[in-house]
Amino acid sequence: MAFDDSAAEHARDTITAGANHNDHEAVQYLVGSAGLAVRWLQAQGIDFDHDANGLQLGREGGHGCSRIVHAGGDASGHALLTALARAAQQARHITWRAPASLDAIQLCDGRVSGVALVDPATGVSQELECAELVLATGGCGALFAATTNPATADGNGLALALACGARLRDAEFVQFHPTALDVEQDGALPLITEALRGAGARLVDDEGRAVMDTRHPMGDLAPRDHVARRVWECRQVGGRVWLDTTSLKGDWEQRFPTVFALCARHGIDPRRQRIPVTPAAHFHMGGISVDLDGYTSVPGLYAVGEVACNGVHGANRLASNSLLEGVVFGRRLGGRLADIRLHAPSRGQQHWVDRGRTADSQALGELRQLAWSALGPVRHGSRMIEAEGHIATDDQLHGTWQGKLMARFLRAALQRRKSLGAHFRADERK
Ligand SMILES: Cc1cc2nc3c(=O)[nH]c(=O)nc-3n(C[C@H](O)[C@H](O)[C@H](O)COP(=O)(O)OP(=O)(O)OC[C@H]3O[C@@H](n4cnc5c(N)ncnc54)[C@H](O)[C@@H]3O)c2cc1C
Repeated sequence: MAFDDSAAEHARDTITAGANHNDHEAVQYLVGSAGLAVRWLQAQGIDFDHDANGLQLGREGGHGCSRIVHAGGDASGHALLTALARAAQQARHITWRAPASLDAIQLCDGRVSGVALVDPATGVSQELECAELVLATGGCGALFAATTNPATADGNGLALALACGARLRDAEFVQFHPTALDVEQDGALPLITEALRGAGARLVDDEGRAVMDTRHPMGDLAPRDHVARRVWECRQVGGRVWLDTTSLKGDWEQRFPTVFALCARHGIDPRRQRIPVTPAAHFHMGGISVDLDGYTSVPGLYAVGEVACNGVHGANRLASNSLLEGVVFGRRLGGRLADIRLHAPSRGQQHWVDRGRTADSQALGELRQLAWSALGPVRHGSRMIEAEGHIATDDQLHGTWQGKLMARFLRAALQRRKSLGAHFRADERK
């Protein structure tokens, strides 16, 4: 921890970014468990970047000081995933069934009693009995036209939980990352890490003027919602926004290898040229409503990570708090499950619940555009009502699980008439 930092400072930054919509107990648990989580990850084999003085700490938007550990420069997520997947595959108490996709949930008298899994390569499905089920299926950014998320982050786990009767919480709060690489591309846009701004890179317009200076006291390191809106506004009036990294010193290939390689693939040398950026849907603060132990409103069903919402992120996630959330609340949930007595198989009324009809690729493309224009960084009631009407009357979208999910998001956003955190209503009456 940096000498000027503490769990209380981390909590304060988390709650400021979250517009004080956060569950304070969840925040206290998160920040109080962070040090232990880092040490546990090290014990799983993750070699966080360090020098002779100890761990190297980075700074991102909304953080009052440098406190973020990283691995492999800007490849922390990859390092985490590789180490944890290896540990899970080697654990004797885990049966690894990948690749398998969760397709349906069996309920018995309203309690989870089984799952149907499909092998995506062969289409072969199998049914398994299941006493307790944890959903960790990630976010829903892929439902937006511009996103940093992979195609699998399409909200399908959320849709399945809702079909089972789980409660949805804070669905209107979607975080937009201000600096995805602005390139023509199908699917996920590459991310230009915020750590570059932490290291001194500036956001500028076509004329090279800094765009954040007059917008927020923290300037380029303001919380993401402020920066994403500013970049969106500049682009709406026809300009482009650039990340100027040319003043950054040090070894680029060691500090930011992912961005360096990415820029090279697109013919940009970030040591000499500015990087074009655009906002993109990045993280869902909302999700299946859970308590701090990950329990949903459906008996036997738990959720953790981005698919879940325990309120820790409030209306806007503080940068880099989500990997921490996954580890901290995942471990807490694991501890709870290890302690409970497994529920005996029920003999009651059983039935299968699936998501329902899937939109075809053309309808999905249309839905993603609709989501981007109606539920993007700047929202208008009239546009959201129009989008609702479109989903309700379009034969290709109406009744699909993606259409139903988006309709729930739109309803939640319409019901929140005042701007809060990442939910910004340009038509708000003061
Ligand atoms: C480009 C990028 C960079 C990021 N960088 C950071 C960062 O530096 N720090 C940070 O804190 N956060 C970062 N985030 C956010 C963070 O990665 C996510 O919030 C986090 O990965 C969520 O973890 P998760 O386990 O809930 O979901 P995921 O990591 O999305 O994992 C969900 C998994 O479930 C699988 N799945 C989905 N549906 C099904 C199904 N029906 N059946 C079976 N499996 C299914 C998916 O294929 C996926 O493997 C970043 C996100 C992106 C997109």
